[in-house]
Amino acid sequence: MFHSARLKLTTFYLLIIMAISVLFSLVIYTGIDRELTRFERMRGERVERGILGAVPPRPSLDPQLIGEARDRLIFTLVLINLGILILSGAAGYLLASLTLKPIADMVDEQNRFITDASHELRTPLTSLKSEIEVALRAKSITAKESKELLASNLEEVNKLQNLSDSLIKITQYQKNAEITAQKNSITIEKTPIEDVLDAAVRKVTVLAKGKKIDIEKKITQTDVKAEKTSLLELFVILLDNAIKYSPKGGKVRITTKRTDGIIHVLITDSGIGINKEDMPLIFNRFYRGNPNRPKTNGYGLGLSIAQEIAKRHGGTINVESKLGRGSTFSVALRKA
Ligand code: ADP
Repeated sequence: MFHSARLKLTTFYLLIIMAISVLFSLVIYTGIDRELTRFERMRGERVERGILGAVPPRPSLDPQLIGEARDRLIFTLVLINLGILILSGAAGYLLASLTLKPIADMVDEQNRFITDASHELRTPLTSLKSEIEVALRAKSITAKESKELLASNLEEVNKLQNLSDSLIKITQYQKNAEITAQKNSITIEKTPIEDVLDAAVRKVTVLAKGKKIDIEKKITQTDVKAEKTSLLELFVILLDNAIKYSPKGGKVRITTKRTDGIIHVLITDSGIGINKEDMPLIFNRFYRGNPNRPKTNGYGLGLSIAQEIAKRHGGTINVESKLGRGSTFSVALRKA
């Protein structure tokens, strides 16, 4: 598909360049031809006046020479146009590839996203389908079994809902990031970081309590430029991960550090840590690290959503980790 688009684009480039080149050649030819015709006319008049004795005969341009000059001019212009055709064809082919590359990359990325999303959707759907089929095939089913089946179905439906919520969020944040880049349309307001972090901790308290994980906070009150809801979401994702990837009874610490105009929020856990090889990949969509790592609920979309949110705030997320010792995710945001 991109090869034919590349050829079409090259043809368009060529047509434009050749149209300009041929036009210029015609202008040059007409101008020089007019001059040569004038020389011929002047020569004719001079010869006539010379015969009549009005002016003394003077050496003048030979008509054969003028004819040869015309032929040489046409030959040179054709040669130049051929040269331009070959050069601009090669340059146009290269340029077309450069022009189409970002579009080709985007299409590849979209296709990868669709394939990954369909793959993730298939797992809960297959298990939902097979559970229902088995139940339908059974000759009789007790009320207890039906309830168990429905509970299991509901679990799969919840997974599907979480996945579709994450997919919607990721596309929304990406779309908004494009709009933001164009119009700066999101409502960024002065927000006390402590309020956002308190709200985020409240959202993960049940999960933390379930694993007997203590969340410690050492925060310096600072106002940041932020969109409250999405920033809250970012910290919930990081805290949720810190709890998910920590053993029972672990510790999670939230601290802040201030440098010129920037506040760094650090979320440190005492969990399983991240492999060196996984570190550059964990922000990719659907990446869940080494398959041997303990399985948790999730689709590998949390960190990519978090990164979109940080970008939208003109901020960054960095990670430092030691396998088996824990990880620190640090979010840098602009102070208000
Ligand atoms: P998931 O839904 O799998 O948690 P994320 O995008 O949030 O997806 O994270 C991607 C991967 O990064 C996780 O699967 C996990 O392997 C790794 N990861 C993220 N946060 C942590 C953490 N605090 N400790 C250890 N590994 C982590």
